[in-house]
Amino acid sequence: MVVGRFAPTPSGRMHLGNIYAMLFAWAKSRKFGGEIVLRIEDLDKLRCPRSNAEILIDDLYWLGLDWDKGPYFQSERIEIYKKYIEILKQKRVTFPCFCSRGELHIANAPHTNDGIYRYPGTCRNLTKEQIAIKSFWRSPALRVRVDDRVICFEDEHYGIQKSVLDKNSGDFIVCRSDGVYAYHLSVVVDDAIMGVTEIVRGSDLLGSVPVQLYLYELFEFERPSYCHIPLFKVADGRRLAKRDGDLDMGTLRKKYSAEDIIGYIAWQVGFIDKWEKMNKSEFLSVFEIDKLPMNDIVLNYNFDL
Ligand code: GLU
Repeated sequence: MVVGRFAPTPSGRMHLGNIYAMLFAWAKSRKFGGEIVLRIEDLDKLRCPRSNAEILIDDLYWLGLDWDKGPYFQSERIEIYKKYIEILKQKRVTFPCFCSRGELHIANAPHTNDGIYRYPGTCRNLTKEQIAIKSFWRSPALRVRVDDRVICFEDEHYGIQKSVLDKNSGDFIVCRSDGVYAYHLSVVVDDAIMGVTEIVRGSDLLGSVPVQLYLYELFEFERPSYCHIPLFKVADGRRLAKRDGDLDMGTLRKKYSAEDIIGYIAWQVGFIDKWEKMNKSEFLSVFEIDKLPMNDIVLNYNFDL
């Protein structure tokens, strides 16, 4: 059975891009009689207060996007992540890293394609003594060491992807210096434990798959399937973002019905020719992932939204 998931980070109100990603995760699973897990990714407690999660859950109800298991809150699953960090330590693939973000920028690490700094390996080979001295001044982050291993997978929408770990990301963080478990670790552990078989999400996360699949390997979990979808953009090429106050659920709910929003998304992705109201079962009947473009989708705001 297909098990999909919603994995929102409640750092603000959902915008149209988030709604579209949830709608696609929902439809992809439901179309084949699958289940959905709802997991709230609120490890960063300062950015993600519980009140935001409550509003987000209410927005999902309002949209009619239902789920079968959850909500699970990552902030309540710390003990689980701790156990998996221990497994990585036992496998001797981790090392403490004392670099601050600023230092890494000064080190002028080579960029990956996404404009993300690749870790230059500064703390990779510290001696026990060096670690002891540095620990006195600063608590370290924990990184997983990677090598030139090639990771291959087939994305259902973007096709076969191949990536060399140390070129793609460099050694990656699994626990931040403030003790917060990092996204790659928590997402892999949770998806595996929760039995998620299919991950549908925005193409901005396509580049994180190799690192995540490497963790699947280390933990000996079974791989899920991936389907990344193009992002929604506004006319000037900018991605939708919570911080820019882009059409969020607060604004949308005042003016539109859930059917207006679902129909608008169906229109923007090319499932229908014009904007019309659509309920979720009608959306399921036109849903065809193959019709989605590869490039990001520039939203048509040429009407009174
Ligand atoms: N929580 C992440 C976000 O809201 C999504 C993580 C994922 O889908 O793997 O961007």
